[in-house]
Amino acid sequence: MNNTPATYEFGDFVQTFQIEDLNIRGRLIRLDQTYAEAIKAHDYPPFIEKLVGEILVLAAVLASALKYDGVFKLQVQGDGPVSLIMADITSDGAMRACAKIREGVDPADIAEGASIPQTLGAGHMAFTVDQGPDTDRYQGITEITGATLAECAQNYFRQSEQIETAIAITADANGPSHAAGLMVQRLPMARDGEQEEENWRRAVILMSSITNKELLDPSLSATKILYRLYHEDGIRLYEQGALRHECRCSEDRVSRTLRAFPRSEIDEMAEDGLITVTCEFCRTDYVYDERRLDDLFADAAGAT
Ligand SMILES: [Zn+2]
Repeated sequence: MNNTPATYEFGDFVQTFQIEDLNIRGRLIRLDQTYAEAIKAHDYPPFIEKLVGEILVLAAVLASALKYDGVFKLQVQGDGPVSLIMADITSDGAMRACAKIREGVDPADIAEGASIPQTLGAGHMAFTVDQGPDTDRYQGITEITGATLAECAQNYFRQSEQIETAIAITADANGPSHAAGLMVQRLPMARDGEQEEENWRRAVILMSSITNKELLDPSLSATKILYRLYHEDGIRLYEQGALRHECRCSEDRVSRTLRAFPRSEIDEMAEDGLITVTCEFCRTDYVYDERRLDDLFADAAGAT
């Protein structure tokens, strides 16, 4: 007999599922390393670390409902003390995120557990799908309405997509950085009828019976959580999609951005003869001295 206690890795994945008897589909997302690495290079106050975890999960929730080949970007912009939070995810599961505090705001003034209206204020949530230069950008936009990011997203689905959706999101970076989310969605063909109404209510009530603590509990596997909630209703699990942290910044991209400015403007921005461009996602510094700038702009002149 094996006496080793069962341990599960918290993991970084999206688990798609279907509740056959209720005609509901859903997703469970868990982020571990992806979340830890997204906040590692930053010195965020705790309430921002929590927001970053939540927006990573929300980006994974929304992106996993779409078929695309490229980059899904989610941004929430407001007039509050936090001016912007954003996350993006490639179709093969590479994620990154960041947050910006408005200039002049002291993060210490914002209480932990502050609501979205208290942190981001009034503004909007927008997402785009970038599938390369010659393809259409799918774009969704909605006003910030709701106390949490999950509520904002639910309202978006209700208003724009007209798909009944329930989303729960939670994140905690005190100790190991864990973030998780659960989403259920009514399948489009099941919109009419009393039975469907009843099924939907049941799926949402069961979903809300799981606590944030349980969603973040590494000793409860995703399978265990989902079976516990929906085993009576014919739950079917699909293959998990792996998620990971990865920044897409590169010297090449920074150089291209710099070359879009006139050289004179770049020179004005130099400090001690150096231009330093810092990636807002991973905080990598790209430093250009005068010689490198000369090369860069010589190339640019040659290219035209
Ligand atoms: Zn970067």
